[in-house]
Amino acid sequence: MKVNYIDAKKIVYPVKHSEGWFGVSYNMNIYRGCHHGCIYCDSRSDVYQIKNFDEVKTKKNVKQKLESELITKKKTGIIGMGAMSDPYNKFESELGLTRESLKLIDKYGFGVNIVTKSDLIVRDLDILKRIQKHSSVIVCMTITTYDDELAKIIEPGAPTTTARFKALEELVKCDIYSGITLMPILPKINDNTENIEKIIKKAGEIGAEFISPFYGLTLRKGQREYFYDKLNRYFIGATDFYQKQFGSDYSCHSTNNKQLYELTEKLCNKFSIKYKMKDIIDKSRDYVIEGQISLF
Ligand code: SF4
Repeated sequence: MKVNYIDAKKIVYPVKHSEGWFGVSYNMNIYRGCHHGCIYCDSRSDVYQIKNFDEVKTKKNVKQKLESELITKKKTGIIGMGAMSDPYNKFESELGLTRESLKLIDKYGFGVNIVTKSDLIVRDLDILKRIQKHSSVIVCMTITTYDDELAKIIEPGAPTTTARFKALEELVKCDIYSGITLMPILPKINDNTENIEKIIKKAGEIGAEFISPFYGLTLRKGQREYFYDKLNRYFIGATDFYQKQFGSDYSCHSTNNKQLYELTEKLCNKFSIKYKMKDIIDKSRDYVIEGQISLF
């Protein structure tokens, strides 16, 4: 596969509400587009104007630009990666741009929140450990279905759920603060109690620290048409349900919403898994080694 490069004015952008999504103060995407092909992907929405979203492009001079931006920031904070494009795509194993970016994040004293569906993240355990010595590291493995076969349909280019759980287990074993982004959960497709129960139980077994759930999905122009096209292909009758139930709504909540949140609360409490955003952010600080008093 050939990598195409694009010009980008900036790499890192400030985020207004830093106590919202995993405490991030900045966002960065060094790639544009994604290879995972999730049928529900919000980044396909017209609002973002990304042509040929499945074709990944790389921003030019990522390392130099990122370093010059980080060096001039007045305040450090948590940098979010993975909001618009998975930082561990098929090019990353060869290019190592996410790895190089993490090294710079470490060098300039920032923290990081990574959202990914890829087991390639375990390659960077060494740098994540280094960052966690001075700042918060919050790794979110996105898992939407326990069923590998269903994952192959709704997230056809991403590693299987089994591979994601294995990577998550390794992160946990290495004391990297990690958990699951349990979203989006698609009405009529994977919004059943059996699926959610299996995911949370497995998370409990491997010692995941948190689960951040959203039982539903958001749909916008461009993304909606792509999603419906895939539904027509793989899930007979599903498009009719979505059209009748949600019309042109942006937020499409599961009709099992209440039941699924109750189940989440019950199981997360049982396995001591955090599921409220404030608790998730607060706990990440306990993993930061710097400033802890050694008794030995
Ligand atoms: S991994 Fe994320 S960015 Fe990539 S296709 Fe899936 S939802 Fe979109």
